[in-house]
Amino acid sequence: MPDPKKEIPVRTSNLNRIPLHDEVLIIGGGVAGCAASIALARKGRGVTLIEREPTPRHKVCGEFLSGEALEDLHALGIDVASLGAVPIDYVRLAAARRAAEAPLPFPAASLTRKALDTALIAEAIAAGVSVERGRSVQALGRTASNAWQATLDDGTTYEAPTVFLATGKHDLRGYKRPEDPERWVAFKMYFRLARAQAAELARASELMLFPGGYGGIQPVEGGIANLCWVVQQRHLARVGNRWENFLAKMQQDCPHLAMRLAGAEPLLAKPIAITHIPYGYIRRTTENGLYCIGDQAAVIPSFTGDGISIALHTARCAVAAYLAAEPAPVFQAKLRSALLAQMRLAEFAADGLNNALARVALPFCLRVWPGVMRVTARLTRVAQHASVAQAAVAS
Ligand SMILES: Cc1cc2nc3c(=O)[nH]c(=O)nc-3n(C[C@H](O)[C@H](O)[C@H](O)COP(=O)(O)OP(=O)(O)OC[C@H]3O[C@@H](n4cnc5c(N)ncnc54)[C@H](O)[C@@H]3O)c2cc1C
Repeated sequence: MPDPKKEIPVRTSNLNRIPLHDEVLIIGGGVAGCAASIALARKGRGVTLIEREPTPRHKVCGEFLSGEALEDLHALGIDVASLGAVPIDYVRLAAARRAAEAPLPFPAASLTRKALDTALIAEAIAAGVSVERGRSVQALGRTASNAWQATLDDGTTYEAPTVFLATGKHDLRGYKRPEDPERWVAFKMYFRLARAQAAELARASELMLFPGGYGGIQPVEGGIANLCWVVQQRHLARVGNRWENFLAKMQQDCPHLAMRLAGAEPLLAKPIAITHIPYGYIRRTTENGLYCIGDQAAVIPSFTGDGISIALHTARCAVAAYLAAEPAPVFQAKLRSALLAQMRLAEFAADGLNNALARVALPFCLRVWPGVMRVTARLTRVAQHASVAQAAVAS
C-alpha cells in the first residue's frame, strides 16, 4: 500500500473543456468515490475523480468502522491496523445515571476520517485514477450529444458518458436530496481524556442518550478520543444555539459523559459541525449514466455506525452494475429495495433510542441493540448485488 503520509502532487489543468470519452467521472473523493474509483481502475477503466478539498481534513463522523466496512476496506488494500486503527470490542449505552455494556457481535475498529480518507485517495492514485484535488464541481448537466458535463469552479468542464455522484452530505445544484424535517445538527470534537478515563473507555464505543439527540465517544489512533453528537435544531435553539451550552447540558443530562470528560483536554478550538442530514433517505431513481453512491444513495442514522459500510457497499454495487452494463436507473431501484429493510429498521431503532421510553428501558435496549446491529450488518450485504459484484470482479 502506498505511504498515505507522502505528499501527493495536485494535478492542475489549463484546458477549459476536457472530454473523457470512455472514462468514468467520479464527483467526490470520500469513502464511496474513492472505493468506486479504485475498483474501476483495477478493472482497467479510465477514471477521473474530482475532490474539492486539496487535502483530506477532519469530517463530522463517529469514526466507527463496522465489520462490513473492515472487510470492504481490506479488499481495497487498506490495512487499517497499519494506520493505527483502535480495535473496538465493546459497546456501552449510557443514559441519565445508568450505563450498560455488551460485547460487539462483530469485529470493529475506529480510525479518524482524515487518516482513512488519506489512505483511500493514495490507494486511488496508486491504482491509476486521475485525481483532481482542490477543485469543486459546481454544476452537472448534459451536452447536446447527451454526455454528462460537470462544470468546475474555475469554469473547466469535464464531459463523460458516465458519472458516479459521491459528494456525500453536499448536494449538487439540481440533484438535491429532500429537506431534513428534524433539522439535525452534528458536531465532532477530539479530546485527550484524563488517564483514568482513557483507561476505562479502553476499546469501547460508548453511545449516550440525551433529550433531543444522542452522541458517541470512542478512542481513535494517537491516544485520543472522538466525541461526536447529533441534536435536533430546536433543542440546540433552547440553549442559544451554542455548542458549548449544549455540551454542558449533555453532561448534566448524562453524568456518564460528564465523568468521561472530567479533566479532558479539548484538541480543537471548537467542534466541527454540519447541518442538513436527511436520515432515512434512500434515492428512488436516477438518470441514465448517473450512478449515485454513498450518502447520495442512502443516509442511515448515525448511531448504527454503518454509514461508511453502506458507502463502500453502494460503491461496490455501482461498479458491478456499471461493468455489467446495468443501466443506472435499474441499479438505483435495485439498491433501494435492497437497502430498504435495513434503513427502516435503523430508523425504528433510532426513534426508540430517542424517545423517553428507551431511556427507562435501558437494559432492554442494550440487550437488543447488538442483535439489531448484527441484523443490519447482514442486511447491508445484499445477495443479489453481492453476486453481481463478485461476478464482475472475477471476470
Ligand atoms: C454525526 C455523524 C456520525 C457518523 N458516524 C459514523 C460512524 O461512526 N461510522 C460510520 O460508518 N458512519 C458514520 N457516519 C456516516 C458516514 O460519515 C457517511 O455515511 C460516509 O462518510 C459517506 O461517505 P460518502 O463517500 O458518501 O461521503 P464523504 O465521505 O463525506 O465524501 C464526500 C466527498 O465529496 C466531496 N465533495 C462534496 N461536494 C463536492 C463537489 N461539489 N465537488 C467535488 N467534491 C465534492 C467532499 O469534499 C467529500 O470528500 C456518520 C455520519 C454523521 C452525520
